[in-house]
Amino acid sequence: MDIHEHQAKELLAGFGVPVPEGGLAFSPEQAAYHARRLGLPVVVKAQVHAGGRGAAGGVRLCRTEAEAADFAAGLLGRRLVTRQTDAQGKPVHRVWVEAATDIARELYLGLVLDRKSERIMIVASREGGMEIEDLARERPDALLRMVIDPAVGLTEFSARELAFGLGLRGPQVAEMVQVLRGCYRAFRDRDATMVEINPLVVTGAGGLIALDAKMSFDTNALFRQPEVAALRDPGQEDPREAAAAAHGLNYVGLTGDIGCIINGAGLAMATMDMIQLAGGAPANFLDIGGGASPERVVAAFRTVLSDSNVSVVLVNIFAGINRCDWVARGVVQAYRELGLTLPVVVRLAGTNVEEGHAIIAGSGLPLISADTLAEAAAAAVRARPRAAA
Ligand code: GDP
Ligand code: MN
Repeated sequence: MDIHEHQAKELLAGFGVPVPEGGLAFSPEQAAYHARRLGLPVVVKAQVHAGGRGAAGGVRLCRTEAEAADFAAGLLGRRLVTRQTDAQGKPVHRVWVEAATDIARELYLGLVLDRKSERIMIVASREGGMEIEDLARERPDALLRMVIDPAVGLTEFSARELAFGLGLRGPQVAEMVQVLRGCYRAFRDRDATMVEINPLVVTGAGGLIALDAKMSFDTNALFRQPEVAALRDPGQEDPREAAAAAHGLNYVGLTGDIGCIINGAGLAMATMDMIQLAGGAPANFLDIGGGASPERVVAAFRTVLSDSNVSVVLVNIFAGINRCDWVARGVVQAYRELGLTLPVVVRLAGTNVEEGHAIIAGSGLPLISADTLAEAAAAAVRARPRAAA
C-alpha cells in the first residue's frame, strides 16, 4: 500500500527526520491560506501516489499567495499523468503547500525490502533528483548500497560510513546519521517495504532536509498497523480493484476485453497465458477463492462486468475446495439477475462436476460449455463480438 508524500513526511518526522513545514489544501483558498501562514515563497505539490510530478507540472515554486492559489486551482480535480502513472494518470484531490527550501545539493536516499538477500537494502547517492531507475542505468557507479541485517539493525558506524560516502562533512554527518536511523526505524516499526527520499537536500545553510518522501507498506501487516491503514486513500487506487477488495475478492485489472472469473492465482496465471495463446487479451481476472457460494459468484460477475471493456466472460474453475454445482448455480443466478446479454464461457472441473454441468445444461441459457482450459480460452476468443467483425 502506498501513501501520500505529506503523510510520509509526517510519519518520518515522527522518527526524527527533518522535513519542511507545510500544510494540506483541498481548495485554492486553503492553498493561499497556507502560503500566507508559512511565508513566501512556497512550493505547491500535487498529492498523488506516483513520482515524477516535478517533470509533469505537478510541483511549482510560487512567489505570491495568488500564484499558489492559481496553481492549486489548476491541479485540484484534474488527473496528473507522470512517467510513473498510466495514460489515465492519478486524480489530484489535495495539494501540499510547503515553505520553499534553498537547495545547495540534492542527494538520493532509499530503503527497500530486498527479497533476494532477505534484508533491508539502503541505496544512497550524491546524485539526487534523478529517478533511481535512470540513475542505476546511467550512473551505476554513483550508487552506494548497504545491506542491513534486521537482527543487528542499522549501526551508528554503518550510518556514518554512508554519510561520508555521500561527501557529507562536519555536523552534516551527525544529521545524516539521524536521517538514516529515523528512516530505518520508521521502515522497521511500520512494516514498510520502501522508503524513498528523493531529493534529500543539503540546504544553503548546510543542513539536511527531506524535500520529498515516498513510502510503501506491506499490506499483509496492516492488521497490526492501524495508524498506517488509516492513511489509505482509495481514490488513488484502481476503482475496480478497490470495489473487489470490499467484497473480499482479489481482482486485477488488465487492458483486454475478456473478463475472467477463476479460483486460485496459479490457475489465473495459466488462464491468462491460454487466452493470449488463443489470440485474445484478458480485461481482468477475479479470484473467487475457495468454497465460493453462488452469491459470491454473482458478486464476482458484478465486479468483472463493471469494467466496460469486457465483451465476454470466461469462468474457469478447478474445484477442490470449491463445488462445481455451487459455481454453476452462481453463474445461472448471475445471468438472470444481472440480465446478461454477452457471451459467457464456462469450464468446470473437479468436485461435483457432473452436477455442475447438469445445472448449466438444464438452465436453458445460452452458456458456452468447455471441457479443457485450452478449449475454454479458444471459445472465449471466438465468442467476442469484435472477433466476428
Ligand atoms: P517528484 O518529481 O514527484 O519526485 O517530486 P519532488 O518532490 O521530488 O519535486 C520535484 C522537484 O521540485 C525536486 O527535485 C526539486 O528540484 C524541486 N523542488 C521541490 N521542492 C522545492 C523547494 O522547496 N525549493 C526548490 N528550489 N525546489 C524544490
Ligand atoms: Mn522526488
